[in-house]
Amino acid sequence: MNILCPICKNKNKLKLATNEKSYICSKNHSFDISKSGYLNLLVSKTNSGDNKDMVNARSNFLNKGYYEPLAIKIKEVVNKYSPDYKNVVDAGCGTGYYSNYLKNSNSSIYGFDISKFAIDKAKKLQKENNYFVASTSFLPIEDDSVDVLLTVFAPTFPNEFFRVLKKDAIFVLVVPNHNHLYELKKALYDKPYLNEDKDYSILNSNFTLVEKLDLTYKTNINNDDLLQLVKMTPYFYKTNPTRIDKLDFNNDELTLDFSIFVYKK
Ligand SMILES: [Zn+2]
Repeated sequence: MNILCPICKNKNKLKLATNEKSYICSKNHSFDISKSGYLNLLVSKTNSGDNKDMVNARSNFLNKGYYEPLAIKIKEVVNKYSPDYKNVVDAGCGTGYYSNYLKNSNSSIYGFDISKFAIDKAKKLQKENNYFVASTSFLPIEDDSVDVLLTVFAPTFPNEFFRVLKKDAIFVLVVPNHNHLYELKKALYDKPYLNEDKDYSILNSNFTLVEKLDLTYKTNINNDDLLQLVKMTPYFYKTNPTRIDKLDFNNDELTLDFSIFVYKK
């Protein structure tokens, strides 16, 4: 799969420069390969997205396997609707946890995230995959080149995702369902709320919804792991720190509740 120059924004492909330390387009826009091996395609130099602490918390938490049933379910769904997939794009990939489950001898994984800390971690964890610091509102990828586009808890850009997918290719969207982390919210807030249904009907103008499934399970979690989980979510910044300090989960039950939407182009 060809990677495009994010400045030219046309079909100008990036090629490895002769010094093999950067990628360059025909108009001499140049993008450095990092020490860990990812490519930084952000046009502005500001740091955005998850910071280093959030990324480390995410990586530590995911490493414990609490979300592995979700990763396995995503893999099942992808194999059902796109058994011969090759090019996988993970839009808003974070540390690359979920899409790495889609790696096989046929496939190539391309992860994009606006956080350079997340991408650096992803590349260090999964050397053989391709990772890019880039906004997913403009994916630097050619039209009709992707077999599977995956978005887990990350923003969707329907027109852009439609553009890069091949005909009949699939877009898998994973979002938190109503009861996700309810016990945690009960501990943090006086009036805990259930997650509301978001309106994804905008996707229907481009895509056909072929399946929606829910994955709900309970896990027992200790306080250390729960704190890592809180740090990787917006709750950490939205909650009174004393409430976080008072969290006292002693292998208590926590509900994990996800919805998986499968769309076809
Ligand atoms: Zn260019």
